[in-house]
Amino acid sequence: MPLYDPRSDKPYKLSRSRIENFSKCKRCFYLEEKLGVKKPDSFPFNLNNAVDQLLKDEFDSYRGTENNHPYLIESSIDAKPYDHPDIEIWRTRNQGIGIELKELNLYIYGLVDDVWINTKNDKLIIADYKATSKKGDVTIDAPWQISYKRQIEIYQWLFRQNGFDVDDMSYFVYCNGIKDSKVFDNCLNFEVKILPYKANDSWVTPALKEIKNCLNSDELPEESDRCDYCAYNRKIKLFG
Ligand code: SF4
Repeated sequence: MPLYDPRSDKPYKLSRSRIENFSKCKRCFYLEEKLGVKKPDSFPFNLNNAVDQLLKDEFDSYRGTENNHPYLIESSIDAKPYDHPDIEIWRTRNQGIGIELKELNLYIYGLVDDVWINTKNDKLIIADYKATSKKGDVTIDAPWQISYKRQIEIYQWLFRQNGFDVDDMSYFVYCNGIKDSKVFDNCLNFEVKILPYKANDSWVTPALKEIKNCLNSDELPEESDRCDYCAYNRKIKLFG
């Protein structure tokens, strides 16, 4: 991955997840994008990816048909899977939906899980699939889930930048693996909830300007006081 070079004419590519890195900690973002020091990769979430793929295939089987997905019917959501020739591109690695910002010389892109269309007002609805396994009901209220909300908001912003009329209301299709079944029998059952989220993408454009200033600066930004890694490193240094 090429590092940011302020003298380059080519727009610098930034994915949705790297914008999320900036939102979490400017210092780690700068270290990765400008100095090439990347945090070790986390383990891949293979089970989550499997759930994502199964949901995509299932929603696809209703796309462009008269019928609708039972989750949408049961939840009384006035929406259908959006039938558009680019739907696969919007979800494909190294493609996605993107926009070049000439004034910032950046290219911003992201990969969506799904796009639905509001059957009442014809606006597009961004949908994101999540999978977990926890006791009790799933919610999107935990402080760390701000990442999920920013994720949806960047997708909304990207679709708006590409000229689509986008509904503020978005949805998480949240699958919760049930752990207390009596037997496993090669089968993990899920309870599925569709959680609405009224998003607000107004922070995205100012954040991109901030990102550009950060990338053009010669100073290493401050570390985040909410991250455990640097606190851990500081403590280690106390011992020499
Ligand atoms: S606080 Fe330190 S380790 Fe944590 S994200 Fe920031 S620079 Fe990286």
